[in-house]
Amino acid sequence: MAILDILSFPDPRLRIEASPVVVFDSALQRLIGDMKETMYAEGGIGLAATQVNEHRQLLVMDVSETRDQFRVFINPELTFASGSETCEEGCLSVPGVYAEVSRASEIGVRAQNPDGSYFEVTLTGLDAVCLQHEMDHLKGK
Ligand code: ZN
Repeated sequence: MAILDILSFPDPRLRIEASPVVVFDSALQRLIGDMKETMYAEGGIGLAATQVNEHRQLLVMDVSETRDQFRVFINPELTFASGSETCEEGCLSVPGVYAEVSRASEIGVRAQNPDGSYFEVTLTGLDAVCLQHEMDHLKGK
């Protein structure tokens, strides 16, 4: 595995909209492994492929204190979003800057696993905030 370079704001490549993942091959598994290592090395709770200059709909996250709840979301789509909460968000692409952002407090997500199988999950709290943040990256926001 390798630690990847993270693009920093205002790099224009952060504005590129990611394409869906269609091939679940060993190169994809390698990218997931590298993103995992990069996220932990940088102390982040989430990382979108866009941030490592891979414009595919793939994100990884781990919001746990214990750093052992690694999750991968490929081609994520929201199935519902409800409630609203405002919290202070940071971003590995904008080091040292924290901004107040308003997000849905509960979301449903349908996504694919690294093997291409589908799963659905309901997220709340920091999980929900982090996933919405990383999905924004995939949209070039
Ligand atoms: Zn970010």
